[in-house]
Amino acid sequence: MEQKDDVWPAVGIDLGTTYSCVAIWQHNRVEIITNDQGNRTTPSCVAFAHNNRLVGDAAKNQLTLNPTNTIFDTKRLIGRRYSDQTVQNDIKLWPFKVIPHPDSQDKDPMIEVTYKGEHKHFTPQEISAMILVKLKDMAESHLGSQVNNAVVTVPAYFTDSQRQATKDAGLIAGLNVMRIINEPTAAAIAYGLDHHVPDNQLLARKNILVFDVGGGTLDVSLVSVSKHVFEVRAVSGDTHLGGEDFDNRMVSHFVQEFNKKHSVDISDNPRALGRLLLACERAKRTLSVTTEATIEIDCLFDGIDFISTVTRARFERLNMDLFRKCIDLVAQCLSDAKIDKTDVDDVVLIGGSTRIPKIQQMLQRFFNGKELCKGINPDEAVAYGAAVQAATLTGVCLDKDDDFVLVDVTSLSLGIELYGGEMRVVIPRNTVIPTEKMIGNLTTVHDNQTSAHFKVYEGERCMAQNNNLLGEFNLSDIPRAPKGVPKLKASFNIDENGILTVTGEDTDTGNKKTVTVTNCSRLSKEDLNRVLKEAEKYRVEEQQYENLVKAKNTIENYANSVWDIATIYGEMVGIDCQTLKNVEDEIEKTYQWLDWNVELVEASNYVDRLRELKNISEPFVSRCCIFCCRHAEDEDVDVEELRSMIASRFNGGDKCTSLMNDLSMQKHKTD
Ligand code: ADP
Ligand code: MG
Repeated sequence: MEQKDDVWPAVGIDLGTTYSCVAIWQHNRVEIITNDQGNRTTPSCVAFAHNNRLVGDAAKNQLTLNPTNTIFDTKRLIGRRYSDQTVQNDIKLWPFKVIPHPDSQDKDPMIEVTYKGEHKHFTPQEISAMILVKLKDMAESHLGSQVNNAVVTVPAYFTDSQRQATKDAGLIAGLNVMRIINEPTAAAIAYGLDHHVPDNQLLARKNILVFDVGGGTLDVSLVSVSKHVFEVRAVSGDTHLGGEDFDNRMVSHFVQEFNKKHSVDISDNPRALGRLLLACERAKRTLSVTTEATIEIDCLFDGIDFISTVTRARFERLNMDLFRKCIDLVAQCLSDAKIDKTDVDDVVLIGGSTRIPKIQQMLQRFFNGKELCKGINPDEAVAYGAAVQAATLTGVCLDKDDDFVLVDVTSLSLGIELYGGEMRVVIPRNTVIPTEKMIGNLTTVHDNQTSAHFKVYEGERCMAQNNNLLGEFNLSDIPRAPKGVPKLKASFNIDENGILTVTGEDTDTGNKKTVTVTNCSRLSKEDLNRVLKEAEKYRVEEQQYENLVKAKNTIENYANSVWDIATIYGEMVGIDCQTLKNVEDEIEKTYQWLDWNVELVEASNYVDRLRELKNISEPFVSRCCIFCCRHAEDEDVDVEELRSMIASRFNGGDKCTSLMNDLSMQKHKTD
C-alpha cells in the first residue's frame, strides 16, 4: 500500500466524555501522544477563566474555583436536542448553564458562560472542537508538523445526528475527519493486532465481546475477528451509564449525610457540589484498590469541614442497579448477535470504569468464570485502534498482508413514518454498513395529492413519534391522480462513516429528492460558517494571550535578573552609588508598574515598558560584562559566577553576551 502524502499525518482520536486521547502510527508502531502535563489522556474539559480560555488539565484543575464557566460532559449534549430527557436530567446535575438555542426550531442546546464580562453561547460542537484543537496541537508539537487529518471515535450507540455533530466539531477544529469509527471497533482493532489469527486458520473466527464502561457511556459490542476482518455483529449499551453516574451516586449519598449531620442542604451550591464531586471521583478510584476511602474537604459549606469515609461495599450498594444494568446489556448484545455466552472467545475490558472490581467480578461470573482480557491499556486502546485505522487510510501502516477491512453495523433501525404514524423500518438495526436499501410500494393517501412528506426516524419503537426524528423532506410535483395510484419509493444509503442519505422518488416521473439528512447535523450552513469564524477568532485571541503572557514574563525575568546582579555584584563591579540607585529605583518602578497594570491586555505595553527599563539598565549590565572580561584571568577577583549569571539570564542573543564575546575576542588578539 502506498503512502498518501496529502493526508499524512493522520491521527487517531478518542474524544471521550471525560477523557480524550490522541495517538499516531509512527516508526512502525502506535505512539500515544502526551499533553503539556506529560499525561497520556487529557480531560475533555474547557474553562472560560478570567482572561483566557483553558482546555484539558488546566481547565479541570480550576473547576471548583470557576464551576459555572467550566464545561465538561459535552459529549452528553452533542447531537441531541434541548428537550431530550437525558439532556434535561443532566442539566440538573451540571454547575454550568445550558439553554435552548434561541434561533433553532427544534431547540438545540447551547452552553452559556460568562467570559470577559460578557455572556457567551457555544454549541456543544464548538466546545468539542476546542478539545479537538488541543489534541491537534499536542500532535503537532509531537510531530513537528501540521496535522489536518484524523479518525475520530464515537460510542457504538451514537445516533446519526451525534455522529454528524462530531464530524462538525472536527471541521470547526480544522480537522478533516477521514472516518468516524465506533469505539469498541477501535478497541477490537487494537486487540486484533495483538492477536493475529494464524494463516492456517484463515476461516477461524473469534468472537470478542468488547465491554467499555467509561465516564459517560456504556458500550457493549460483539465483534467477530477473522484474518484482518473485524465485523461488529451487534451493539448494545447506554449513552448515560458510566463513571460519572457512579460519582453522582456517591455525591448524593454525601449530600444527604452532610444534611443529616449539619442540617444544611448543599444541593443548590455549585461550588460545594463541584468540590464534592472531585473528592468522590478520587475516592471511587481508591476503592478500586482498597476497601475504604476517606473524603476530606475543608470548608465545604459555610465554613464547615467535611470528613467522612466510604467503604467499597457501600459504594457497590449505591451503584448495584447500575452495575446490574451493565450486565443486562451484555446479555442483550449476545441475544441480538444470536450468540450464546459460551461461544464468546474473549471478553475485552475497555474504559476507566472497568477497573471497578465489582464490575469485573459480575462480568466474570456472567461468563461462567472465564478469564477477562485486561491486556490492553483500557484508557488508550480506543485511540490506539483509531491511529491504526488512520494509518491504514493514509497507507502508511502495516505491510501489504496486513491491510484489513473494517466492517461495521448500524446501531439503531432506520425507517420512515407511514400514514397513521407507524414506523416502517428500511434498514434494520445491526445491518452491516456501508449499505443501501430501498422500499417501494409507497403511494399517496389523498386524491390529487401533489406532494409527499417523508419523515426519517431511527429507533426500535413501533410508532414513529416514539423514535428519534432525523430529518424530513417533501417530494413535490407528483402528477395529480387518485389516491394510491402514484408509485413512490424511498432509498436509504449509509456511508462508511455511518452517515445517512435518503432519497425519495416518484417512479412514474423519475422525479427525485435526495437529502443527506443534514438536519441531523445540528448546525445549519450559516451556523457552521459563524462558528468557524468564531473558532478562528478564539485561536487568534489565544495566540494574543500567549504573547501577552510571554511579554509579561520577559519583563519580569529581566527586572529580576538586573536586580540580582545589581544587589549582589554592584559593589564588586565598582558601580558608583548613584548609578546603582538609579538602576534599583527603575526596577522598583517597574515592579510597581506591573502591580498597577495587571489588567493590561496588549503585549506591546509590556514590550514598551521593557524598553524603558533597558535604557537605564543596559549600560549597567554592559559594565558588568566588561568587568567580567577584564578580570577573566585575574586570580584575586572571582567573576565566574557573575559571568555565568549574565550568560544564563540574558540569553545568548542579548547585547551583553555579544559584548562579552567581542571583548574576549579582542583579548585573545592582544594576547
Ligand atoms: P470516557 O471514554 O467516557 O471519557 P474513560 O474510559 O477515560 O472515559 O474513563 C473515565 C472514567 O473512568 C471516569 O469516570 C473515571 O473516574 C473512571 N476511572 C478511571 N480510573 C478508575 C479506577 N481506577 N477505578 C474506577 N474508576 C476509574
Ligand atoms: Mg472511552
